[in-house]
Amino acid sequence: MKSFKDECGVVGVWNHQHASRMTYLSLYAIQHRGQESTGIVTLEDSTQRIHKGPGLVSEVFNDEILDSLKGLAAIGHVRYATTGANQMANFQPLQANLSNGPVAVAHNGNIVNAGPVRERLKSEGSIFQGTNDTEVILHLIAKHPSKDLVECVKSALSQLEGAFSLTILSHKAMIAARDPMGFRPLVLGKLQDPDGRESFVVASETCAFDLIGAKFLREIEPGEIWWVDGDGEHSVKFGSNQPRKACVFEHVYFARPDSIVFGQSVYEVRKRAGQLLAREDAKEGKIQFDVVIPVPDSGVPSALGYSVESGRPFELGIIRNHYIGRTFIQPHQSIRDIGVKIKLNPQEAVLRDKRVVVLDDSLVRGTTSKKIISLIRAAGAKEVHLRIAAPPTIGPCYYGVDTPEKSQLIASRQTIEEIGKFVGADSLRYLSIDGLMSAVKGEQGGFCAACFDGKYPTGLHGLDLIPKGNVRGL
Ligand code: AMP
Repeated sequence: MKSFKDECGVVGVWNHQHASRMTYLSLYAIQHRGQESTGIVTLEDSTQRIHKGPGLVSEVFNDEILDSLKGLAAIGHVRYATTGANQMANFQPLQANLSNGPVAVAHNGNIVNAGPVRERLKSEGSIFQGTNDTEVILHLIAKHPSKDLVECVKSALSQLEGAFSLTILSHKAMIAARDPMGFRPLVLGKLQDPDGRESFVVASETCAFDLIGAKFLREIEPGEIWWVDGDGEHSVKFGSNQPRKACVFEHVYFARPDSIVFGQSVYEVRKRAGQLLAREDAKEGKIQFDVVIPVPDSGVPSALGYSVESGRPFELGIIRNHYIGRTFIQPHQSIRDIGVKIKLNPQEAVLRDKRVVVLDDSLVRGTTSKKIISLIRAAGAKEVHLRIAAPPTIGPCYYGVDTPEKSQLIASRQTIEEIGKFVGADSLRYLSIDGLMSAVKGEQGGFCAACFDGKYPTGLHGLDLIPKGNVRGL
């Protein structure tokens, strides 16, 4: 049903008796960030072991594989490609044997100058195996003459522009690093293993810590390289000082609602967005309605907020089937019209003869909303007012979110009134950009909202050097 996909998620575990299992569980918790492939690299003494493959965490790993991934340290990755085709060479973590020993890298985000860096490296003799942007990191690390891996990482990362939250494993350290603008989240936590070892964990989202019982310590800071080795933990800054540009879309859609992202509960931000939207609605001439319903699951917190603010009841007017897996067999052409209904079924018991406000987190192409609204009407609703808990999506993302190209973003070519007509709503309202910024408490800037305001915080030169078709959104 959804024609575009999530980005990626990374994990790292250091000094834990069950490092591979902790990594596996953490990847399970962040599976929503990527379902295309997954992998784990472990470190035992100075030997690395790797297992990766296409599919979900539950499909790629089993007991036997996890038992074979021995060692007290591990990094892991779940991927949905924003750059690079879906082939083994692009699955992460990427691993190579360098003069400094084995190095494995797991990356979330998108490096906007990967194209020119890659061309330069190729002209200097580097050989690339995949078509992804992450491989340039390994090559830049490999080329640096220092014996000190952190020095090599520092030099490599200073040459990159764009979004990267990374976990890196060497033969004697685990490294976590975040680009100087801090587009993607990355958090640090601590736990004790069954033998009483003090373990460090790193993950894209705090929901991974909840699952493995780790204590959240702090975010890895934008422009920080943090590492842990036999001498304990260390940290160093790299790159120039740049304004913080956390991705606001993590709060709007990507992150799990039970995560704390950029210091804020995602659930609370989404609920506040719904409240603020109801307030903006009320200011501009109140609509009369009987019930507030979410598009499950993404619209649930904002619908709750809208209901609280408007004083109208929240109901589950659409029931979601949770068992639509990736292996779902498309029905025969003649019954394709079932479409959205396979996943989302509006219930007549809630909707018959009602004036309905329906909340969703974002509207991108508009095709999903159109289908949902027609189903809500078919279930007997008298009026359907669509409310979107984010501003109109007008631009593609170049920092790791898989959005369609600009021409396919309905708000880049139609007015709100026209979009309302297209989706068949009696009225349509989006949350304002100011509303979204107060929902994330981002008044002082600090967020990248390029998909909503078109202000890209980095240069975008060189994106055309990435092999065609490998960057969605172009
Ligand atoms: P559309 O039919 O293109 O307007 O789809 C809008 C729906 O897609 C909303 O329900 C969002 O929750 C969801 N959505 C928004 N961004 C993404 C994304 N990058 N990947 C997958 N789903 C998304």
